Amino acid sequence: MRLKGECFCGAVKYLVEDAFVYSANCHCSGCRRATGSPFKAFAGIPREKLAVMTGGSSLLIYGSPENHDAHCSVCGSLLYSLVRDAAWIHVAMGTLVDVPSIRPTHHIFVKSKAAWYEITDDLPQYEEHK
Ligand SMILES: [Zn+2]
Ligand SMILES: [Zn+2]
Repeated sequence: MRLKGECFCGAVKYLVEDAFVYSANCHCSGCRRATGSPFKAFAGIPREKLAVMTGGSSLLIYGSPENHDAHCSVCGSLLYSLVRDAAWIHVAMGTLVDVPSIRPTHHIFVKSKAAWYEITDDLPQYEEHK
């Protein structure tokens, strides 16, 4: 099964297989600023399992060809990040339209957490990477 995702304005639409391998909430300052949120819920999957269906030419790539954040250049939404030298994609879960099977299982970069945000669940917390 494939899940739909899209940016705020709808210019960019993607399909991703519902086969995520891991998922977490990242509290690092980069994810906080890229999303404007206390943390970014993301889910990881091999790159070839995500396809941009509409608006590929509208993507704003921030970073290098092999490791970058992909935003909509119209509305600015962070859709996904290409990581591990282009081998994996971290989907920003807030851009999913359909409901994935996976759920975030832990918090990472908690040492960078916003002081005004309190984690209220019982998921494991890691200072940096798991
Ligand atoms: Zn957009
Ligand atoms: Zn992060």
